[in-house]
Amino acid sequence: MTTKNCEEVWAKCLEIIQENLQKAAFNTWFAPIVPVELKDNQLTIQVPSTFFYEYLEEHYIELMAMTLHRVIGPNAKLDYRVVVSSDQNIGKSVTVKMPSNDTPKNVPNIPKRPRLGEGESPNPYAYPGYTPIQIDPHLNPEYTFDNFVEGECNRLARAAGFAVAGNPAGTSFNPLFIYGGSGLGKTHLANAIGLEVKKNFPDKVVLYVDANKFLTQYMQATRDNNQTDFIHFYQMIDVLILDDVQYFADKEGTQKVFFQIFNYLHQHQKQLILTSDKAPVDLNGMEERLLSRFKWGLAADLQEPDFETRIKILKRKTYKDGIEIKEEILEYIASHVTNNVRELEGTLISLLAQATLNKKEITLELAKGMIDKLVKNTQREISIDYIQKVVCNYFSMSVDVLSSKTRKREIVQARQIAMYFAKNMTKCSLAVIGNAIGNKDHATVLHACKTVNNLIETDKNFKHDLDEIEKRLKM
Ligand code: ADP
Ligand code: MG
Repeated sequence: MTTKNCEEVWAKCLEIIQENLQKAAFNTWFAPIVPVELKDNQLTIQVPSTFFYEYLEEHYIELMAMTLHRVIGPNAKLDYRVVVSSDQNIGKSVTVKMPSNDTPKNVPNIPKRPRLGEGESPNPYAYPGYTPIQIDPHLNPEYTFDNFVEGECNRLARAAGFAVAGNPAGTSFNPLFIYGGSGLGKTHLANAIGLEVKKNFPDKVVLYVDANKFLTQYMQATRDNNQTDFIHFYQMIDVLILDDVQYFADKEGTQKVFFQIFNYLHQHQKQLILTSDKAPVDLNGMEERLLSRFKWGLAADLQEPDFETRIKILKRKTYKDGIEIKEEILEYIASHVTNNVRELEGTLISLLAQATLNKKEITLELAKGMIDKLVKNTQREISIDYIQKVVCNYFSMSVDVLSSKTRKREIVQARQIAMYFAKNMTKCSLAVIGNAIGNKDHATVLHACKTVNNLIETDKNFKHDLDEIEKRLKM
């Protein structure tokens, strides 16, 4: 057959494929393909990269098989050629098995996904039941709303999450920004939203991705010169969940590309859900324009659970695992392990493990012994008040002067040092630290930390003072 024929055949294939895919997916994965040859029912196509080839194989092989079967006939074969650099091609021979009869195999009989711009008229090319984009959402099936205990500490975030799941991109909570300290349930809640969306709208493309993973993927894409594929991939998502966005701090390239993806998705009425260990205003090392996007929707925080919620969480967990533990033991755990849910669960698990290993009953004594050990081993939380006391004590001044309006150098410096330690040794936000130390704003705290860091590097005596204070703080 002639080359012309090959191009014509591919054009026909594209028509069919286009009918069965969303525009973004089509443009990403099919528009760049170049037909090379058609010989004895075997069509050779050229693709831009190995990643590209693998992606096609993984996600669109069925669609391509059906298409070729239709255009070329039952003996159709497909061959790929991967472009490595402009002057060197690597042939990759892959033969696609065609379904043996006329109706496509392995196609679930589910209603066709509605597509953008699809008219009312029956579409001769559409394959009933073909779901165009199948992306594993990477959701943890355990992290559901049902398993997420509600309390004062999470009421707003939970309610907002639930609303978003019922109407993705249709509420004003876009993006939904969930923030809070480690172990307070950000990942769980973000996952629950994803699962709920899938339950409500099975056809929506949901993707959960950890910010670190996103970073690595992006670095790989940059190395392989695949940024466009990377961006297009993310542009296909209907509900994007990005966990722990604080990892983007100081990563300019990644922030830039995420900014682009964010804008695209937001403009196309897609839902974004972000989590972070800090409020948007306290996220350092982020581009201002990205931060301002984060503030477009709703920022809801998760706080440390109160006693009642801690008990509820423990009960839920024991009930789910089918274990019975006396109320007084649960109360003991809940009153001693207070600041995060992960530790709460961890304590319960250790207790169960101990009891099982030693074939002992779970008693209050066992719980007490174990918790005492755990509490001793975990670092004591240092408070801002304590830091102010130690710093002032070191410089022989009274704590009140830190909040005075004076510009005396020693006092300004003591205040800056206190802010520096509060930033490094507590989990408090810059705003909270500023408020507690001299009633300053978060920018002042940030400036203080920078100044102290500079002095540590340049001034030996200053560094000595700081080391001494740190020792005292840790005593
Ligand atoms: P984060 O992402 O904020 O660090 P995770 O979502 O990983 O925290 O939560 C830590 C653990 O605590 C998980 O096992 C999670 O299921 C559990 N958890 C957190 N909050 C709740 C809650 N409200 N109800 C039930 N379990 C919770
Ligand atoms: Mg997490």
